[in-house]
Amino acid sequence: MGRIETEAREVLLRRRRSLFIDETPPAGDPAARWSDYEFATDPLSEVVRREVAAIDEALLRIEQDRYGSCQACGGPLGLQRLRALPEARYCLACSGNVPGLE
Ligand SMILES: [Zn+2]
Repeated sequence: MGRIETEAREVLLRRRRSLFIDETPPAGDPAARWSDYEFATDPLSEVVRREVAAIDEALLRIEQDRYGSCQACGGPLGLQRLRALPEARYCLACSGNVPGLE
């Protein structure tokens, strides 16, 4: 794992942790999945859910050694972009050309 991956992984894991108060389901209810209650009353739930998904995808790409490449054109995302947005999926050119992409 390269330096940028290590760095990004730490940032992503820290942000992921900050999105959850507690990642474990409540005691006494083994059937409960955290996704069912964690966001139940949170108006930001959809935003948080999407951010967690983006973070998880980035972490998966790091593990699979695919991190840092644009998902659209395959080109490098660039160090600056990864530092600013560790979960970025597309390079600046692609994110500007494809509507709806970050
Ligand atoms: Zn691209």
